Amino acid sequence: MLRRIWVLLLCVLLLSACSSVKKYLVMLPPDWSGMLKRPSVGGLAGVYTDADMSDTRAHDLALAIQKARRRVIAVWGSVATAPVLFACSTEACFHRLGGTTNTAHSLGDRRIVLSPRGLDAGMIAHEWSHAEMYRRIGGLLAMLRVPRWFDEGVAVLTSRDARHGEGVWRKIRARGIEPRVGELRSRAQWSDAVHRYRDPRRNPDNLAVVYAAAGHRVAEWYARVGRAGLLHVIARVRAGEAFEPAWRALSSLQLAGADPDPKPVGAPAL
Ligand SMILES: [Zn+2]
Repeated sequence: MLRRIWVLLLCVLLLSACSSVKKYLVMLPPDWSGMLKRPSVGGLAGVYTDADMSDTRAHDLALAIQKARRRVIAVWGSVATAPVLFACSTEACFHRLGGTTNTAHSLGDRRIVLSPRGLDAGMIAHEWSHAEMYRRIGGLLAMLRVPRWFDEGVAVLTSRDARHGEGVWRKIRARGIEPRVGELRSRAQWSDAVHRYRDPRRNPDNLAVVYAAAGHRVAEWYARVGRAGLLHVIARVRAGEAFEPAWRALSSLQLAGADPDPKPVGAPAL
């Protein structure tokens, strides 16, 4: 036991010394994070905030978590994961937990970390969807077969976040700056595209071009194949199939539960 504690303490010291892996510190026991434990809500395994977060803001956060859970259920049908959520009311807290200029991030199906800019139902549902995808598809190795645009597109659909929504997509179309979503497979391709589309000469309003485009592509597909289609693709990839054939096969399949009539693009009703 003592040896395990020493090993964990050594890990903490090593991780603290390297900023690029700082975000993995939250994978340690949550009580070691130095964050304040709050009452858990929405089926999460734990909710932690910085001590500076006011009780009013923590109350609003609890409501946002419950709303986010309903959004996850609306797209996924149920909730299979119970991550621990760390919510920061200051940028200093977010940086300490490994955040940068991003709004939020998740670690597998175990942790969600929010910046003060992401304390809302949309961002929580977005990160929770990533956790659902990771768990249901079978973890890290299977996730390597999932293109980034698909994982992000499902997260955008689940979130209903206006920052990545259909309104943004229409502006992108009007300006003729749609990215080729299907080419954004790897994390590196995705990050590179997000960076390139931040160029103010190309995108003066700083629209979330890449997220909105991935969200639109998945929403359009989901409107045709429904939840049954989503779960079908995930089951095939989980069973070892490559993503593309599983995705393509859907167009010729009559799925149980899928509505053959086209629906408006967007997340299903809550
Ligand atoms: Zn995401």
